[in-house]
Parts: sequence; C-alpha cells; structure tokens
Amino acid sequence: MDCLFCKIINKEVPSNIVYEDDRFVAFKDIDPKAPLHLLIIPKKHIASIDHVEVEDKTLMGELILVAQKIAREKSLKGYKLLINVGREGGQIIDHLHLHLLSGRPTELP
Ligand code: AMP
Ligand code: ZN
Repeated sequence: MDCLFCKIINKEVPSNIVYEDDRFVAFKDIDPKAPLHLLIIPKKHIASIDHVEVEDKTLMGELILVAQKIAREKSLKGYKLLINVGREGGQIIDHLHLHLLSGRPTELP
C-alpha cells in the first residue's frame, strides 16, 4: 500500500519517533504548528475517522491514552488534540492520525 505513514511505521521513510509500542507510533510533525507538534498513529491502517469500525473502538480509546501517556512523560501543562477528517476537514494524509500540540500554536494543522 502506498501510504506515507505506513512507510514511517515500517521505517521505510525516516521520521523522528518519540514513542512506539505494539499498536501505535508517535513522531514529530515535519512542519510543526506549535513548539511541540506530534502525530500519533495506529499501526493498523485506518484511512480516517470516517473509516473507523466498531471493532476499532478499543484502539481508538487507546489512542487517547497514548496521547495522555506522552503528555505525562513530557510533563506538559496543557495540550490540544486534533483530528482532521477528509479533504474538506483538512486531512491530507489518509492514515488516521491524532495531532498533539503543546505551546502556543501558530495556526491549526
Ligand atoms: P493532516 O492535514 O491532518 O492530514 O496532517 C498531516 C500532517 O502530516 C501535517 O501536519 C504534515 O506536516 C505532516 N507530515 C507530512 N509528511 C510528514 C512526514 N514525512 N513526517 C512527519 N510529518 C509529516
Ligand atoms: Zn497507512
């Protein structure tokens, strides 16, 4: 499958990974919109929130817990979580990703 984020998961494309477990990877956004801008992605290829199925509900909960874990590890005082859905919703990469932004954003991703 020709998916940039699957290639990042498989280490076929370099990235700055800050967290990895058996189901998720988190890495630095290449074009950060805040002092800390991470992307947290499931290793399972899901194109977008619009493609999430009932069988993915545990995974989706775990995605939020990974964000919380990273935020706690980095002692973040506050942060934003954002998911763009579809082209009209600002999504440009068709592999579900949760933006984690901390510090003052310059603009929304
Ligand atoms: P979205 O607009 O929600 O689909 O967000 C996609 C994000 O992926 C953008 O914030 C991009 O800056 C980021 N991005 C694109 N290519 C890469 C890459 N190779 N490594 C890290 N982040 C990337
Ligand atoms: Zn993918």
